[in-house]
Amino acid sequence: MDKFFSQKYCDRCGKELTGGRTMSMFNEDCICLECKAKEQENPAYQAAQKAEMEAVKRGERNFKGIGYKP
Ligand SMILES: [Zn+2]
Repeated sequence: MDKFFSQKYCDRCGKELTGGRTMSMFNEDCICLECKAKEQENPAYQAAQKAEMEAVKRGERNFKGIGYKP
């Protein structure tokens, strides 16, 4: 997480993060907005989102996500 704001390239596709960055819903990757859009089309996205919400409810602040499967 510390490198989130300093890293220059997308963890997933390697593209420069000049167009914006966001945290993956599936794991702790820092990804570009294109990869985020792809995640949102992933059939497991809602499950990932739900798992994240439940972790937050449990007070789990460093939830690792359910893992990314392209
Ligand atoms: Zn990317």
